[in-house]
Amino acid sequence: MNLNIVPLKFSNDPLLRKLKERLSLYFESVNIFYTPVNIEPAYNQLRRQYHSTKILESIIKSNPESDGLFLVLTDMDLFVPVLTHVFGEAQLNGKFSIVSVCRLYEEFYTAESDPKLLLSRSIKEILHEIGHNFGLYHCKNWECVMHASNSVEDIDIKGSVYCEECSAILKAKNLPLPSVL
Ligand SMILES: [Zn+2]
Ligand SMILES: [Zn+2]
Repeated sequence: MNLNIVPLKFSNDPLLRKLKERLSLYFESVNIFYTPVNIEPAYNQLRRQYHSTKILESIIKSNPESDGLFLVLTDMDLFVPVLTHVFGEAQLNGKFSIVSVCRLYEEFYTAESDPKLLLSRSIKEILHEIGHNFGLYHCKNWECVMHASNSVEDIDIKGSVYCEECSAILKAKNLPLPSVL
């Protein structure tokens, strides 16, 4: 399977390169897919955040021509109306997902910069959203990357692979995603 990473208002090229490298372990190919899709209509001035569902709708409407999954990556802070923020959103059993790195930077919380932590948080959130694309729901197991995360602490505590139960669902679909073996 092919993974298209779609940077939209995303500025961290070293992180993009590392993500491409890491995700290449699980996909036949990983492309960086550039598109002129404009996400400004998804901006909410009162909240100073972007509505993630609207960004997903714009990218879906643009009907991007490439096989496989589309993962939007952005620096912009995301929300859905019932929540203060979201780290990402994905279509359940679909091809499209989005992850924001805004709240994955350690600098968002402390003065410390930590590129390794940023990478590990990003990988977890990406694998989580991709899991939804493959039909996985939230998992109660804290070791599992499909555990729901409301805060960055939740992301740091949870594991970075799929648990046995979630893996079994992925394996049934022949997906070489990282699992507890
Ligand atoms: Zn989720
Ligand atoms: Zn699980």
